Amino acid sequence: MTLTDNIQQIRNRMAAAALRSGRSPGDVRLMAVTKTVDDDRIGEAIRAGVEIIGENYVQEAKRKIETLGRRCQWHLIGHLQTNKAKYAVQLFDMIHSVDRLELARELDRRARAIGRVVEILIEVNVSGEGTKSGVPLAEALPLVRAVAGFPNLAVRGLMTMPPWFDDSEEARPYFRALRELKAAVASEALDRVEMRELSMGMTGDFTVAIEEGATIVRIGRGIFGERPAR
Ligand SMILES: *Cc1c(COP(=O)(O)O)cnc(C)c1O
Repeated sequence: MTLTDNIQQIRNRMAAAALRSGRSPGDVRLMAVTKTVDDDRIGEAIRAGVEIIGENYVQEAKRKIETLGRRCQWHLIGHLQTNKAKYAVQLFDMIHSVDRLELARELDRRARAIGRVVEILIEVNVSGEGTKSGVPLAEALPLVRAVAGFPNLAVRGLMTMPPWFDDSEEARPYFRALRELKAAVASEALDRVEMRELSMGMTGDFTVAIEEGATIVRIGRGIFGERPAR
């Protein structure tokens, strides 16, 4: 199977999951997650039509964007240190990993300095696992309310990463909880907050995530194969 075949197969499964749950396939975008993936293969994925490239690390993304250009969107999905906010607001079309007020404040300050309004998602740790980044579920709504006050940030939705399960069905309650939180935030009609996106679902569980409302699925191994350990 070529990389283009892999992408086609993922797209077919995405469309089937959307239709199964009464959604339109066009409502779900495919992100290719490219940590550790070399430039040639990322270029191939872009030519095959992926809408979004997702990167975990600011430095790695900076180099790749300089080489590959902006033929697609570049989103940050990895944990973001506050001292990298300055670079993140220059590089990314969307930042999925905003999980604390201190980080949001710094992103807002850095975005204002370059005259940008940066689209962000709030990353939620639905399971409460200590090893995961993301704001705890119970603190997510207060965080969104606070972030809504920053004029150079535009909240566009939520992101999550459930615990790892052998059986992807077990991830469903976590995806559902994020969808319910999205509805709760939307009902507050906060300034600058538009709850369009649910970034959830990876190679092992994206069809379940789509059934629960995902609008962006983040696929690494399903497109590029297993990653080397690092
Ligand atoms: C690596 C990664 C993915 C992709 O995971 P796969 O299992 O390779 O599809 C998605 N989201 C985040 C935040 C990641 O770090």
